[in-house]
Amino acid sequence: MSERAAPAYCPYCGDEDLRPEEGGHRRWSCRSCRRVFEVAFVGLLAFGATEPVPTPVPVPTPGATAQQD
Ligand SMILES: [Zn+2]
Repeated sequence: MSERAAPAYCPYCGDEDLRPEEGGHRRWSCRSCRRVFEVAFVGLLAFGATEPVPTPVPVPTPGATAQQD
């Protein structure tokens, strides 16, 4: 599978007339509502989970901003 799959429907108006848009490999334009949007991979569902596994994000060091007496 070398080509990306096309989204079937516009996420905003539901129209099926979508075209690849220049400027990004994930970008699509809807010919009905003229919106340009991106389809992005977020992550994988954990086995048995209902939400994507969150990607690790930097968190502030505990105590860095908190002031203790
Ligand atoms: Zn649309």
